[in-house]
Amino acid sequence: MSRIRPLPPELINQIAAGEVIERPSSVVKELVENSLDAGAGRVEVDIELGGARLIRVRDDGDGIAADDLPLAVASHATSKIGSFDDLEHVASMGFRGEALASMASVGRFAMTSRLRGADNAFRIEVDSGRMHDVRPAQHPQGTSVEVRDLFYNVPARRKFLRAERTEFAHIDDLLKSLALARGGVEFRLSHNGKSVRVWKAARDDKAMLMRVAEMLGESFPQQSLRIDHASAGMRLSGWVGLPTASRSQADAQYFYVNGRLVRDRVVAHAVRQAYADVLFHGRHPAFVLYLELDPAGVDVNVHPAKSEVRFREQRLVHDFLFRSLHEALAETRAGQQAAEAP
Ligand code: ADP
Ligand code: MG
Repeated sequence: MSRIRPLPPELINQIAAGEVIERPSSVVKELVENSLDAGAGRVEVDIELGGARLIRVRDDGDGIAADDLPLAVASHATSKIGSFDDLEHVASMGFRGEALASMASVGRFAMTSRLRGADNAFRIEVDSGRMHDVRPAQHPQGTSVEVRDLFYNVPARRKFLRAERTEFAHIDDLLKSLALARGGVEFRLSHNGKSVRVWKAARDDKAMLMRVAEMLGESFPQQSLRIDHASAGMRLSGWVGLPTASRSQADAQYFYVNGRLVRDRVVAHAVRQAYADVLFHGRHPAFVLYLELDPAGVDVNVHPAKSEVRFREQRLVHDFLFRSLHEALAETRAGQQAAEAP
């Protein structure tokens, strides 16, 4: 047996990266979430070779001060929380202060930023865990992050990258889910220099429904109901698909909790129950739903990828969801019957 030794910081980051950076789309997720946390009105994502060669995310958000650039890429450094109490109330997408450090340990990393109101932009590069000096650079207000040659130094991970097309499809799906989370933000996506998606900021419900239709299908607006229910400090809004919009696969289900796409048992159960008597066995509903509640009522620190949550009052949330959805669907049932009546 050898003696116990502390791990070198670089290795610690690579191990952490194993948890959050599974594939190129994980990098895109972390970067776009950072842009959204920085209040961006516009986010541009450029991808080359499915993300294996280049992932670049550019935003017009608040930016980062030159002095903060080295901290931004240091692990466990964040501007989003400072105490346990903050963690209990966290409303931002990020809070672990680990994403940039992780990706900088498994790719060639560069970040350029101009702080709101500043005259100059600055850039930092990190290569194989070596941080280079912060240098002046050209950049409009906001931040650009580039990750090149993802997993170039982690052959086991590199080997598991799928075909370019597959990795890009993951990125496209991810961006869809983020674009549905933030209708007011403009998103652009390009692959190998070709523009693939342009979603202009949706200023109202109608524009948002058009964005939704792009993701869930042209007929979704006719086959869905607008829902907006509030009670007991919670609000559920969005669009619930009618039975005619149901699918053979559960691939058109977007459920956001305080702006974060989540998969959750309690939610899934409430939805299933609400649809139980209107859908045939084997059919899956389509929906885009936004649940808002006091951040203190939901724990997002369950898993590094933050796609799981834990509600403090599961029963209450479940019943609220079930009742809201069931009621919405019941109205249609009544509506259909009225229309069919002589
Ligand atoms: P976290 O998002 O959990 O705080 P990250 O490693 O993703 O951790 O980012 C570290 C810090 O870098 C953030 O807390 C934020 O202050 C800063 N940062 C990262 N990306 C951006 C961005 N696009 N715009 C402004 N600040 C950013
Ligand atoms: Mg982050």
